[in-house]
Amino acid sequence: MLADSSTSTPPFFPPGSRIAVLLPLPLAGAYDYLTGDLALAAGDFVTVPLGHRDLIGVVWGAGTGPVAESKLRRVGCRLAAQPLSAVARAFIDWVAAYTLAPPGAVLKMAMSVPAALEPAPGLTVVRRVEPLPAVKDTPARRKVLETVERLPPLTVADLAREAGVGAAVVKGLIEAGALETITLPRPPLFRMPDVTLAAAVLSPDQRAAADALVAAVGNGFSVSLIDGVTGSGKTEVYFEAVAAALAKGAQTLVLLPEIALSNQWLERFTRRFGARPAEWHSELGDARRRETWRAVANGEARVIVGARSALFLPYRDLGLIVVDEEHDGAFKQEDGVSYHARDMAVVRGRLGGFPVVLASATPSLETMANVQGGRYRLLHLPDRHAGAVMPEMNAIDLRRHPPPRGRWLSPVLVQALEETFAAGEQAMLYLNRRGYAPLTLCRTCGHRLQCPHCTAWLVEHRLAGRLVCHHCGYHIRLPRKCPHCEAEDSFAACGPGVERIAEEAALLFPDIRMAVMTSDTCAGPHAAAEFIRQVTAHEIDLLVGTQIVAKGYHFPMLTVVGVVDADLGLEGGDLRAGERTHQLLSQVAGRAGRAERPGRVFLQTYQPDHPVMRALRSGERDGFIAREADMRRDAGMPPYGRLAALVLSGPDAGLLDGFAARLSRAAPHGGGVEVLGPAPAPMALLRGKHRRRFLVKAPRGVNLQGTLRDWLARVEQPRGVRVQVDIDPYSFF
Ligand code: ADP
Ligand code: ZN
Repeated sequence: MLADSSTSTPPFFPPGSRIAVLLPLPLAGAYDYLTGDLALAAGDFVTVPLGHRDLIGVVWGAGTGPVAESKLRRVGCRLAAQPLSAVARAFIDWVAAYTLAPPGAVLKMAMSVPAALEPAPGLTVVRRVEPLPAVKDTPARRKVLETVERLPPLTVADLAREAGVGAAVVKGLIEAGALETITLPRPPLFRMPDVTLAAAVLSPDQRAAADALVAAVGNGFSVSLIDGVTGSGKTEVYFEAVAAALAKGAQTLVLLPEIALSNQWLERFTRRFGARPAEWHSELGDARRRETWRAVANGEARVIVGARSALFLPYRDLGLIVVDEEHDGAFKQEDGVSYHARDMAVVRGRLGGFPVVLASATPSLETMANVQGGRYRLLHLPDRHAGAVMPEMNAIDLRRHPPPRGRWLSPVLVQALEETFAAGEQAMLYLNRRGYAPLTLCRTCGHRLQCPHCTAWLVEHRLAGRLVCHHCGYHIRLPRKCPHCEAEDSFAACGPGVERIAEEAALLFPDIRMAVMTSDTCAGPHAAAEFIRQVTAHEIDLLVGTQIVAKGYHFPMLTVVGVVDADLGLEGGDLRAGERTHQLLSQVAGRAGRAERPGRVFLQTYQPDHPVMRALRSGERDGFIAREADMRRDAGMPPYGRLAALVLSGPDAGLLDGFAARLSRAAPHGGGVEVLGPAPAPMALLRGKHRRRFLVKAPRGVNLQGTLRDWLARVEQPRGVRVQVDIDPYSFF
């Protein structure tokens, strides 16, 4: 284990040393440079020449490359930014080695805001010049001068606004010499969370879990799983760990799967600690991104809540990571460096010597295996808070209670909705499919409208008036003639998306207030917050949505949840299909009856006896997980075996197949390693690129990364072919 970042001494390099500098580029490794007359330390941000450019990189260590010293170029300068800590550097090396990504590609994630490496600009404000020179007097100018007297120094824009004049008036006074600008340091962006505010009074189970977490904070590396049903107070419990970390002066990172949709969480945190945490996600503006980056690096931001990329921020003294909804697929990054943020959070905790807390109502099989193996501590919260009962689960057998022709809601579900609205309560219909219909086909010849660039059907979005490819964004208007048989007006929409369900609900219940919540209607944190506010304020009776409505929301008046197609996630059958469907539907179901009013959940299914449906109906989660685990163990699949995917892609199918065949001949064997493929990937064409896939299976003891590295090194990769390695793959498209 490495010493804490703030106490370790980095290797120092006096003037005239040969050093290795890692650049945020997908190169094979660090490049050597000479320090010239600079004294540098590992972790320093420096500029170095590369070709004709100057780039920013990080001093990684002593230079040991093969290039003769006489050929090396010199470091340009050292930036004033906080150096990258030893732990952060070790983390980058670890992630690179594990994912087989070039270290520079991982460094790029840790340097995603290069502008933040420049010193923070001060705040330029305006003050009066003493003595005041004689200037032309106008009523507007007089107002400005009066305002300057009255208020503390303001920026030009703020001063103009306060004085009720245009900015030109203020600028005119600066030019005339009556006002001058000075630069002050910026006030802190983030207030210190207050740990002395009253916490919730915890139940005995909650207290026991919270005490265990508090004891772990400041006590080296450990991993704890809070396993508790939806509404059991997991958040309340890990807030106690956050408070303990704050009290010990450590920074905390809370990873959430969809931070842009987490307004309720932010409000709760703010109520508990009297200050908003720093947020990190893709919706942040550039200025905010820079400021947040610096606040994390200089320690001003004490609690950071973020998406998976927040793992790579330059923490000054990180001492706790919480991964909420640890089972969520959103933690897996698939493009670029493919990594799982939950697993990498554990690595970060181990390298940094601090605790990691995972929370879920439906923990992943991976995490359960670690609990059973004694590597993770289990903290169990069996009950919903304040006596709220778990919702009643009903499966609607669609073979026995089918919807009328051309409709999607069974009479059983329709009746439950009727009762709900009559009682003045709210309902939710869940279907994980955006748009109106997933497939459009010609009634005359059966032709299906497909994306020309992907192995995918075009999805009709009726509100937007188009057919869209959900993979590449290609879109068209609905053609009048079938491109195949030229029949006119012969297209039929097949199957439902949320828009179609909303249409049906509007026909059935013309008087209710309804909202459709999907990533199309609800892009960005503000739109999401507005939806949540409307539902909470009961301005909406029926919420129709995709999985974004399943995310941890707490709606006290929501008592009925209808799952339109419970079988949907079971199609295709990748290794986690059952597990994932169970998790998602449990989470959706968890929205029902979170307060005094009991909830009911209706699962529309053609397979009421499927193990997933049985587990959901009976609430027998552990039995279900145990059976899934047995199946995985028998098949040698993760977490009991190791798995990697190798996806080759490129515009030229012939070239791709040739390369795939050469790889196949050079494939590793022995030691239990099994190579499946090459085969066309299920998504054989994506964004105009052909795709071929290998899957590599190995027993747990095998060095899978080493095996893959050797294999890829044996075959020359042609230009125009991309190889994407995915260790522990989660999607198999
Ligand atoms: P989970 O994260 O397990 O879904 P939450 O922490 O969101 O559960 O708790 C569910 C609801 O119950 C929230 O509104 C929360 O504020 C409330 N709650 C949980 N525990 C307590 C407690 N000990 N005292 C007061 N309210 C609580
Ligand atoms: Zn497409």
